[in-house]
Parts: sequence; C-alpha cells; structure tokens
Amino acid sequence: MKNYFYTFCIGALLSMSCQSNTNNFDPNMLDSTALSTISEASYKKYVSDLASDEFLGRKPFTKGDTLTTQYIEKQFKDLGLLPGNGDSYFQEVPMVEITSKPTEIRLIFQGSKGNLTVNNLDDYVIGTRKINENITIPSTELVFAGFGIVAPEFGWNDYEGIDVKGKTVVVMVSDPGRYDKELFKADTMTYYGRWRYKYEEAARQGATGVLIIHDTPAASYGWDVVRSGWSGPQLNLTADQAPVPDFEGWISNQTAHNLFQIAGLEPSLMDSAKKKGFKAIPMNVSTNVSLQNTFRYANSTNVIAKIEGTKRPDETIIYTAHWDHLGIGEPVNGDSIYNGAVDNAAGVAALFEIAKAFKAAKHQPERSIIFIALTAEEEGLLGSSHYANNPIYPLNKTVANLNMDAFSPQGATKDVSIVGYGQTEIDDYVVRSAAKFGRTVHGEKNPASGGFYRSDHFNFVKKGVPGLFMGAGSELISTDSLANQTRAKALAGRYHSPADQVDENWDFAGIIEDIRLFFDIGYTMSQEKTFPQFKQKSEFRELGEKRLSK
Ligand SMILES: [Zn+2]
Repeated sequence: MKNYFYTFCIGALLSMSCQSNTNNFDPNMLDSTALSTISEASYKKYVSDLASDEFLGRKPFTKGDTLTTQYIEKQFKDLGLLPGNGDSYFQEVPMVEITSKPTEIRLIFQGSKGNLTVNNLDDYVIGTRKINENITIPSTELVFAGFGIVAPEFGWNDYEGIDVKGKTVVVMVSDPGRYDKELFKADTMTYYGRWRYKYEEAARQGATGVLIIHDTPAASYGWDVVRSGWSGPQLNLTADQAPVPDFEGWISNQTAHNLFQIAGLEPSLMDSAKKKGFKAIPMNVSTNVSLQNTFRYANSTNVIAKIEGTKRPDETIIYTAHWDHLGIGEPVNGDSIYNGAVDNAAGVAALFEIAKAFKAAKHQPERSIIFIALTAEEEGLLGSSHYANNPIYPLNKTVANLNMDAFSPQGATKDVSIVGYGQTEIDDYVVRSAAKFGRTVHGEKNPASGGFYRSDHFNFVKKGVPGLFMGAGSELISTDSLANQTRAKALAGRYHSPADQVDENWDFAGIIEDIRLFFDIGYTMSQEKTFPQFKQKSEFRELGEKRLSK
C-alpha cells in the first residue's frame, strides 16, 4: 500500500524537503511541516524565560517553584494542549525534607581484635529515610556482603545462605564487571552497581543498616561528593511505600580497612568478593547507632499536558523534562542564582517545541502524547519516582518514555549519544530517525559511571517501561575552529553553577536538530501498534515483559 516511488529520498542529506505523497504514514520520511514549527527563535525565548533570574533558580518549595509551574501550565494552555491529569495540569508530589543527624559525632565499632572509633563526615556518613524522630539501635552485628547484589540473570547472589535480618551489611560500590570483563556487563555499569540499588536490596533482605565502602574510581566520584551530599537535609517522597533500612550510609576506604583489621579479617576478602562463588561473612564486629531526625513537609508539582491519540488514545508516549534546578545558593563570582539554562530549562522548552510539532503534524498521533515537566530531579529523581508510583496513564499501555535532560548549545553535531545504549529497542528508533537527518548514533563515552540510572527515564525503566536518555555527540559539523572554541569556553565548568545561564556565545542550532530527532522518534511510535521492548541483555528485560502482560 505504500508509495515506494518517493523513498529514493532516504539518506539524502537533509531529506526534509522530500515528502511522501501517500496518505499512509511512512517511517522513512520526515514530516517537514511538523519539523519546521520547531524554531530556534521561540525555543530560545522559552529557555531565556525559564533561566532568567526572575525564576530564582527554580527550586522546589520556593517562590521559584510556583512561578515556574505556572509558566509551564500557561505555555501548555497557549499551545492548545489538554490538561494531563483529569481537568488539571498538575500532579501534586508530596515530599518530606529529612534532617538526620547521628546523636554522637563518633561511631564506635567493637571487634574481636579491638575497637575502632570513627568521625562523622570525615570517615563515615549515616542517615535515614524512615519517618521517626529517633532511631536507636543498641547493637547490630556487621556482615560483609561483597557487592550486596542478587542478580539471578548473571548467576550472582551475595546474600545466599545468610540471614542479615537485624544486621548491618557492609558492601562495595560498583559491580563485578568492573573487575572481570567476563562478569555482568564488563565496563558498562549495571543498576546493581549503583548505591541506590544496594540500599534497596539490603532492605529486601531485612537488614537494619547498610554501609557502602567508598572507592573513588569505582564510584566515579570522590569522598567529598559523598560528604557534601550527606551533610544537609534530604528530600524524600512521603507516599513512597518501599521498605527502607533503619539507617543507610557510607564509610571511607580507610575506615573499611580498619574495620577488617579489628575483625581479624584480611582486607584481601574485598578482592575475593569480586569473584564468583563468594559467600557473605559475619565480621564479628558490632556497633550501636542513634539518629535524631527532624522533618518538614511540603508539596511540589509535576506539570502534565496531553494530545489525545486519534485511534488508540489509551496508549501513551510520554515526553519528560525536569523543570527544577538548584535555586539560590553559594555565590560564585558574585552570582548566587543557579539559573539552570542547560540543566534543564533546555529540556522543558523542548517539550513546548515538540508539542507544536505534533499539533502541526500531517498524521495526527494515533496514540496519546503526554508531556510532563517533572519536579525534584536534582533531589534524587523524586518527581518521576512519584509519577511512576502513581501513574496517571497505565504503565502497561505506556509505550515509551522519552526523557530530555540538558541539551548542549555547543553547535550542531553529526553524531548523537545514547546513554545506556543497548538497553532498549528505542535505540533502533533512534538509529532509523537519526539516519533520516544524516546523523550517526553511538553509546555514551563513559558507561562505567552508570549514567543510565541517573535521570528521570530510569524511574520508568524500574517499572518496566523502556526509557530513552540521549544527547548530542561530539563531532561538531562546523569547521570554524575559532567559533567552536569560543562556544566550548562559554560552556566549560558551568554544570550546576550559577554560570549555567544563557550566553550570547551559545549556539542553539544543534539543539534544534536534537529536538527534531526527539520529535521524529515519538512521531514514529505514535503511528504504530507495537511496543518496544528491553533488549535481550538488559537487566530490565523480564520486568518489561511482566509489565506488558498485566
Ligand atoms: Zn538535569
């Protein structure tokens, strides 16, 4: 039924001028009318608005929160989008800010070969996600549980044959693939390597406490990051029912070595634990923990809009971008407003541009297109976590999540980079769409740092919904090296700094191309009846299949 006559255009550079005359949707064609509505002028205006000082760095619970969510709602309305949550554009996200402090600065471990006293923040950090004013654990035995991983698909179970109820597990960061390329996914970190997973698994095992042994190369960040991350209050969801241990924390590498010493154990056990067949070992060390906690409750909001599908409106493709940033903080060069232009006014503005394109599309989407501007990503992906736990659109009918977190104004690139390349079949959509624009696709530069687990799409993935997180590559199309250098300079060192604000040296042309690519991927999916899956080797494959069978 397809009109193949026109397909000669495929692969032609900027085949946007090629149009199929047929009334059937052709996934190998670009919709030039839709794409032309994605414009640099309007995009730049949205980014400049959201990243202006007026929005005060868009921190949840501040005046900047109200201003930002109202601005987004207004744009959604002006673009003619329907409210995404009944007759409202808002989904409330109830949160609690927990300030958790050890009653004593010192933590004392009693071992068979002596005692060890360590200092909070210098040698260890602990806190809790439990809503209890006081947490007192008179005595808990330590168990060294290797990586703290249960991964049947990789033939690995660090908890096999040991009961850790009431105990405190001591575990290593990262996963075995880092040390043995035959194990797990070699250099590509799996979710099992992330600290968050280790806390979740320990809770499932019934452990009272968890202490992760820090290691700079394996964690991909230094102790200073752990220290600063744990010295202030932490935001959490109040409606999150997942079990949590009584306390969670980290110990420095030196502390771990000292612990092994007072246990009378060889530190080389940490190397044995990197090999298959390792069994968790009671350390004959105990400690007592006491925490004092204070709480502050507040709500923030996800802002949600939709375009209803013409044929299968119950099936959804969800575009997300977090609207929040860091607010007002430590001044740098006299500037204390963290504007978050790249991170992530750039992503929110892209929601608007993509919505415009769908509205103008030649083939109206047969599935519904949902746009969610998420809150509290910077505080631990909380807005997306709340949505995934309380989905407005059933997850078994959610086709995919296409997540936009930061776009780079470095100028147009020939390549695009998928974070977590090889995880889902959305990759194949990216490859096909990118080819239509004459662009190439590859995975992220440093898959060992676990980028796939660090933005909002991951909360969809954890529920079995394939998610895409993608950004521009590094092969600049422009050969004007002076201009390229100027732009690179105008970007360097601005991540999570007050200098992440719109700069006259920035070039938005490449971002426009990235947004067009995001549109085309969702557009293609919106015309199909199939659901992309996780790939065979993904640790989420089974979860994805289960989700669809519900
Ligand atoms: Zn971000």
